[in-house]
Amino acid sequence: MLEKTGRTTFAAGSDAPLTIRRIDAIPVALPLKSPMKMAGETITAAQNILVRIEAKDGTVGWGEAASAPTMTGDTLGGLTAAVRDFLAPRLIGQDARQWPALRPGLHRALLGNGGAHSAIEIAMLDLIGKVSGKRLIDLVAKPRREAVKPMWLLGNKTAEEDVAEAHLRQKEGFNFFKLKIGVKELAKEIAIAFAVREALPKTPLCADANCGLTLAAAKSYIDKTRKARLMFVEQPLAYDDFEALKKLTRAAKVPVGVDEAIHSFADITASAKAGAGGVSLKLIKLGGITAAIEAGKLSQRLGLSVNIAAKIAESSISSAAALHLACAVPKADWGVSLTHFYLAEDLVRRPLPLKNGLVALPDGPGLGIEVDEAAVERFRVK
Ligand SMILES: [Mg+2]
Repeated sequence: MLEKTGRTTFAAGSDAPLTIRRIDAIPVALPLKSPMKMAGETITAAQNILVRIEAKDGTVGWGEAASAPTMTGDTLGGLTAAVRDFLAPRLIGQDARQWPALRPGLHRALLGNGGAHSAIEIAMLDLIGKVSGKRLIDLVAKPRREAVKPMWLLGNKTAEEDVAEAHLRQKEGFNFFKLKIGVKELAKEIAIAFAVREALPKTPLCADANCGLTLAAAKSYIDKTRKARLMFVEQPLAYDDFEALKKLTRAAKVPVGVDEAIHSFADITASAKAGAGGVSLKLIKLGGITAAIEAGKLSQRLGLSVNIAAKIAESSISSAAALHLACAVPKADWGVSLTHFYLAEDLVRRPLPLKNGLVALPDGPGLGIEVDEAAVERFRVK
C-alpha cells in the first residue's frame, strides 16, 4: 500500500551506508498448544515465513508473516517465492537507511502480497533500529502508549471448555475475550456467549465469525446475544458483501467489525460507509507497519474503533511488530491479539511476557527481541 510520508531516510548511527548483504526467506511450521478451529480453517501448526536481512557489517534484522489463505490469499510457497525471487533481489546491495524511499518502489513492483511486504518491512526496520539503537516504534511513529492489554481467543467445542479456558487465562492476566463463531450450530454459539458472559460478568467480550454467517444468521446471533453484552461482532458476513453488511449494520444493535474485508485504505472507508463500528488491522493485510499506522489514523478520522491483531499464530517476532503497531496507532479500543501465546514453542530467547495484565513494549533496539536461530532451524520447513 502506498501513501505519502514525509521521511525519505533514516539516520542509523553514522553516515556510512547500511548496505544489505543478504536476505533469507525461511519457511517455518510452528505447532500450536492446541488446534484453533475457525470458520473456513482449522490451524494445528502455523505456516509462517521468516525474513532475515543481514547488513554488510553483520547486523541482522528479522521479520515474519503468517500464511493466510482465507484472509490474504498468501500460501507459504507464495510468501517464500515473493520474498526470495522478487523482493529480495531488488534490495540486495541497497542502503537500508533509504527504506522510506525504497518502499514505494517495492509496492509498485509487486501488488498485493501483504505478508511478504510486511515481513520485509519489519525486518528492515528491526535492522535499522539495531544499528541506530532505536526502538522500531520510534523510527516510524510517536508512541501513544507503552503497553497493551491483550485479548484471548476462545474456540473450544463446548461452553464448559470455553468457560474453563477463560477462567484459566484470566488468572494469567488476560481480561478481554473473543469468541470464535460461525463454526457450530447457531443456537449452541448463542448459548456459549451467555455461558461465558455469566462466568465473566464484567469482562469485555466480543465474537468473530471469520465470514462464517449468512445475513439472517448474523442478525439472529446479534439479536439473541444482546443480553450477553458483546462489545462487537467481527466479520459476520462474506468479506466482499458490503451490501449485506449495510443491511446488517442498519438492523444490528451491536457494533459490527470488519476484518477479512480490509486490505486497503479504500476498504476501511467502504466499511465506515457501510455502517461498520470498527475494523481489525493486521500487518499482513496492509503490507507493513507504515501502511498499518496510516490505516489506524484513517480509522480514527472515520470514527471507527480499532482492533490490532496478529494472525493465529505468529511467533514473538510478529507479535512484537503487532505490539509496536498497537502502541503507535491513535487507538486500539477493540483489543489487541498477540498470538505467540498460542504457540507450543517460540522462536525468540525471551517470548514477550504478560505481566500484570499487560504486554509492554520491549526496551531493546528494533523489535526488542532476540531470535533463537537454533529454534528457527528446528522448525524450518525443508
Ligand atoms: Mg478476525
